[in-house]
Amino acid sequence: MKAPDFDYTKPRSLDEVFALLAEYGDEARLLAGGQTLMATLNMRLSEPALLIDITGIDALRGIAVRDGALRIGALATHTQIESSTLVAQHAPLLAMAAPHIAHRAIRNLGTLGGSIAYADPAAEWPTCALALDAAIVCCGADGTRHIPAAEFFLDLYTTALRPGELVQAVEFPMAAPGARFHFDELARRHGDYAIAGLALASRFEQGQARQARIALMGIAATPVRARRTEALLEGRAVDAGVIGEAASLLADELAGALQPVADLTNSSATKRHLATVLLRRALTTFIAG
Ligand SMILES: Cc1cc2nc3c(=O)[nH]c(=O)nc-3n(C[C@H](O)[C@H](O)[C@H](O)COP(=O)(O)OP(=O)(O)OC[C@H]3O[C@@H](n4cnc5c(N)ncnc54)[C@H](O)[C@@H]3O)c2cc1C
Repeated sequence: MKAPDFDYTKPRSLDEVFALLAEYGDEARLLAGGQTLMATLNMRLSEPALLIDITGIDALRGIAVRDGALRIGALATHTQIESSTLVAQHAPLLAMAAPHIAHRAIRNLGTLGGSIAYADPAAEWPTCALALDAAIVCCGADGTRHIPAAEFFLDLYTTALRPGELVQAVEFPMAAPGARFHFDELARRHGDYAIAGLALASRFEQGQARQARIALMGIAATPVRARRTEALLEGRAVDAGVIGEAASLLADELAGALQPVADLTNSSATKRHLATVLLRRALTTFIAG
């Protein structure tokens, strides 16, 4: 199918975008990398009157250390994040996750802001944002809001963005000394959306885990934290026994409040099993050093 007719405009400033969003409301769609939007237009899942191409707006660009955080502009492509030395140094989890996103051609065009705003529960950036306690910087005619990732992803493809707002950037806390990270996912083929994925961030002090954060993707309507399993790891030296305890507790969490949502080919029980496999693998890499 072909996309329905639409008007197209490419503003040069955020103020122009805010004015267009105020005028057109739900009849307008922002266009960033187009890697999700164009498919939905071609399938006629959405029929906006106007596409607002935001790729000419400098205020949405850049990867920089600012005010003690790594700030990545909404227009940063997946490839730019994957190859950034600042990201490798200050938010290595993102560099680990990037190669799992689709294929090179999509990574060259798809953007951080588009992925965060679209809020696919099996997408890598929302999951990493949750694991790293990032802040989503949203801007609109009324000003800028910093929303913690834990409060941003509300439901399936639903975020805390208000009408007229866009994602301007994401601010990631800088990796602390002694912090360790791991990202992995299971997909039918490399580049497919994950069946299940796991991002793990933890500090280690004298060999003991501190403030571990486990974010799971492909499990629920949004990325989710496995908070009971995180608590079990607090202050523990990770060894084979702790890994076994953590995997059992995660299976328990996923049989209770975090019951995975089945998809067309994978049952809830399969996803629960895959998540525990991913946790075992992640913690095992921490032992290996
Ligand atoms: C075959 C295929 C496989 C894929 N596999 C994966 C995968 O494994 N993992 C993964 O994470 N993604 C995957 N994607 C999606 C891809 O990563 C997209 O690039 C990503 O969803 C972001 O889209 P985009 O930047 O191209 O935004 P667009 O497609 O331009 O926009 C997506 C949505 O976000 C809105 N939007 C865009 N930018 C902003 C902003 N700054 N503020 C507010 N709203 C905004 C748009 O209006 C639109 O509703 C895949 C895509 C394809 C086509």
